Amino acid sequence: MRSFSCACGNALFFESSRCLKCGLDVGYEPVKGLIRRIDKNFRLCSNGQRYAACNWLVPTSFSEAFCTSCRLNRTIPDLSNALNRQHWSLMEAAKRRLLHTLIGLHIPLPTLAEDPQNGLAFDIVSTTLNPAATTGHLSGVITVSLEEADDTWRQINRQQLGEASRTLLGHFRHESGHYLWYRCLSRLEWTHPWRMAFREVFGNEALHYSDGLARHYQYGPPADWQQNYISAYAASHPWEDWAETWAHYLQMVDGFETCEQLGIRSSEAPLPASACTLPTGLETDSASEDANFHSLIQRWISLASMMNEISRSFGAAFLYPYVISPAVARKLRLAHYFAKVWR
Ligand SMILES: [Zn+2]
Ligand SMILES: [Zn+2]
Ligand SMILES: [Zn+2]
Repeated sequence: MRSFSCACGNALFFESSRCLKCGLDVGYEPVKGLIRRIDKNFRLCSNGQRYAACNWLVPTSFSEAFCTSCRLNRTIPDLSNALNRQHWSLMEAAKRRLLHTLIGLHIPLPTLAEDPQNGLAFDIVSTTLNPAATTGHLSGVITVSLEEADDTWRQINRQQLGEASRTLLGHFRHESGHYLWYRCLSRLEWTHPWRMAFREVFGNEALHYSDGLARHYQYGPPADWQQNYISAYAASHPWEDWAETWAHYLQMVDGFETCEQLGIRSSEAPLPASACTLPTGLETDSASEDANFHSLIQRWISLASMMNEISRSFGAAFLYPYVISPAVARKLRLAHYFAKVWR
């Protein structure tokens, strides 16, 4: 994430709606990617005005009441309930972080209403009240269980599922991977270079999905899963492997942006360069792109150990409970490639 500051010099954040020093009302302008004052050119999104649940701005010349992020909502919870409002607000904050990264990667995000073929919509629903709904993606619709915004609920799920980490932002990033797979890969011919590269790196996605999940929940991941997967869950099926890898790639992109803005520099931890080459049949985005990615991932591994040292010194759980093996680096390399060609 970028760093922001007010005209008065005070630090502002991605979530800021007011400067705590000079009292100026501010909001986030997603096109330019900056926090700016609210004036005659920009108004606060309707969900900000009514519920203090959004700090994104809408140009006053637009007739839309909602911002780029809130316009993507198809279903939101019953806001007459105060706890729902609180949880929904946390959901929206995580969703805006996801969208910030996707917009930064120049990935187009039409709404499902504008573009029924390729568009995106979010259903944020209580799965307690709607037992048929589950967190997931289907045909451009990302559903997220509102209860996941409850810290206790999420931690219980995390422990029961044996996950190293479980966050709202992680859910949104993961489901955006399923959505992009559906939009950019699922309709291509089986022999398309992107589909072939995907199979080479992630395995055969034609394997039965529900069998893979059932096997995962019954027997757990293979003993050596860390050699090949970013998370235990990624071992359940190539689609889940992709979504977990994509989520991790977005985490890296956001993490790097933050470190660069804060002036945090890192060395390069060793990783074989062969782990950062694209599968055969894919055009390299540029001659030096493999080398760029190699340097990027080596710096990331080094940053990761810095993050964990810091968490150790606080007596806290590891901030970065992941291992980037050469096989995982190769998957991230493909995610990096797709992020460029899907612009
Ligand atoms: Zn100020
Ligand atoms: Zn909004
Ligand atoms: Zn998934």
